[in-house]
Amino acid sequence: MAEKRHRDVGSEDNKIQLTEFISVSELANLMDVSFTDVISKCMSLGIMVSINQRLDAEVIELVSSEFGFEVEFINLEQEAEQEIEVDDDPEDMKPRAPIVTIMGHVDHGKTSLLDYIRNASVVAGEAGGITQHIGAYEVTLPNGKEITFLDTPGHEAFTAMRARGAKVTDIAVIVVAADDSVMPQTREAISHAQAAGVPMIFAINKIDKEGANSDKIREQLSAMNILVEEWGGKFQSQEISAKSGLNVDVLLDKILLEAEMLDLKANPDRFANGTIVEASLDKGRGFVSTILVQSGTLEIGDMIVAGSIFGRVKAMTDERGKKKLKAGPSTPVQILGLNGAPQSGEKFKVYEDEDEAKEVATHRAQILREQGMRTKKHITLDEIGRRLALGNFKQLNVIIKGDVDGSVEALSDSLQKLSTDEIAVSVVHKAVGQITESDVLLATASDAIILGFQVRPSPSAAKIAENENIEIRYYSIIYDAIDEIRSAMEGLLEPKIEKKMVCNIEVREVFKITGVGAIAGCLVLEGKIKRENKINLIRDGIVIYTGELASLKRYKDDAKEVLSGTECGLGIKNYNDLKAGDVIEGFEEIEVKRTL
Ligand code: GDP
Repeated sequence: MAEKRHRDVGSEDNKIQLTEFISVSELANLMDVSFTDVISKCMSLGIMVSINQRLDAEVIELVSSEFGFEVEFINLEQEAEQEIEVDDDPEDMKPRAPIVTIMGHVDHGKTSLLDYIRNASVVAGEAGGITQHIGAYEVTLPNGKEITFLDTPGHEAFTAMRARGAKVTDIAVIVVAADDSVMPQTREAISHAQAAGVPMIFAINKIDKEGANSDKIREQLSAMNILVEEWGGKFQSQEISAKSGLNVDVLLDKILLEAEMLDLKANPDRFANGTIVEASLDKGRGFVSTILVQSGTLEIGDMIVAGSIFGRVKAMTDERGKKKLKAGPSTPVQILGLNGAPQSGEKFKVYEDEDEAKEVATHRAQILREQGMRTKKHITLDEIGRRLALGNFKQLNVIIKGDVDGSVEALSDSLQKLSTDEIAVSVVHKAVGQITESDVLLATASDAIILGFQVRPSPSAAKIAENENIEIRYYSIIYDAIDEIRSAMEGLLEPKIEKKMVCNIEVREVFKITGVGAIAGCLVLEGKIKRENKINLIRDGIVIYTGELASLKRYKDDAKEVLSGTECGLGIKNYNDLKAGDVIEGFEEIEVKRTL
């Protein structure tokens, strides 16, 4: 009954749990009726379907209710999770090593710390350091205790993994350089760890340097409501020098102490499951994946499924390139034998039965394909209504970026006040500045929408947002933002005037002409600009002016429109402070009808 087990995860009486886009025959199986009954029921509802057709949530709900079933939709990750969840006997649970990620601002010493720890000087009985970089490594301390480090510093990797639903990290070490201060990426790292509910330890680094001031760092942390132990708070911190290794051993002890409090345990005596750390295609060896075993023990020859990828483990090595036959909980290993490169953060599980493994992988591949074609993966304002109808929508996560602190705070406060009994509004992260890649990744991981108040995304952030289907909404009036979100939460988005971006123009040169004002010599990078378009003037990702064109010219002549790749001259009504490098965004105001 493999077929039934992985789809019908926990049905009781007339309740069924399923993923969206199961096929007609699969749905019939779940309800234990013939597929012809499902097809004829669909026909009677005016929906023509064939046996292999995949159905969306609305149709599934409609048809199942006709058969007297109540449905609950779960996504593939939840499905995978439920499959992996095994009730272990508490007696079988054995302590396991903590898994640690190191995060912090650039140049504060994350890589130096990871490198120092790799080095044999703190590791008991190891001849030589770790030469390979496989994405994770395990160290054994002089007291015999072990710690596993994820070897990709920075919160981007951490959050990219979490975006795939992986909860891998047990403890986050936040590195802050004592000769610098708490910086934007330090704050981001803290937000990311907090959003993931992962305990933090602060490593105050570079204390060997002149000008190092640890108290300043503690003070800045306390201003963010993070009190370290020395200051009577609950967060452990340690002054270190990652370069000379000073106090790194004490930091490692503190990690162990934190781990002890977390009481990390896993059952080593069963089929393994865990998470993909990274995977790539190696010319000579085929697909090479670094995986982290989280529970059970992985052995050579085991049949693994990770997402829609599967295969038998042909070879297994550790970070020192040593062959391994087995890998228990919290052990990272590099393996060969999968039929593709699974995404990092994807969960994996060992199957006893090869046919079942293949079937699970194929089922996921089909659902993923269908989802890719048909669904919006992430939350948008328009999606709120649909999710409310599905009845599993409890929290609207938002990330707020703005041009000044005052607006960000005001917007954040007002939005939080919109929380109702049904939906809570939660501000996952807020900051001043351009919308960055890290913001988009955080939105992916937390299923959040991004609100840009007078700011825009960087080009790379915009690209990721598009690929990941992250909604970024732009506002220039706080009231508009609040109003729109309130309406969406009430499931009542009114048709409204929306700005449609039509072009992007770069200012190359600025000429000041007496009596006329500033004329910008520009290049249209994308789209086309029309004389009647309105414009936003953007400098370093921040909208500094919104208005109308005063003139648009090709050479000496007035132009109605200028196409992409073409140069033009333009002036902005009532605005002369143009600078080379500015970006001008042209937009139209159109009335859009909202569909829920
Ligand atoms: P990352 O960007 O956070 O990974 O930072 P790196 O580990 O690359 O370190 C940035 C720079 O700071 C490098 O030049 C390191 O040599 C230096 N550095 C790191 N830790 C220390 C330290 O404890 N003391 C001193 N003096 N320099 C350090």
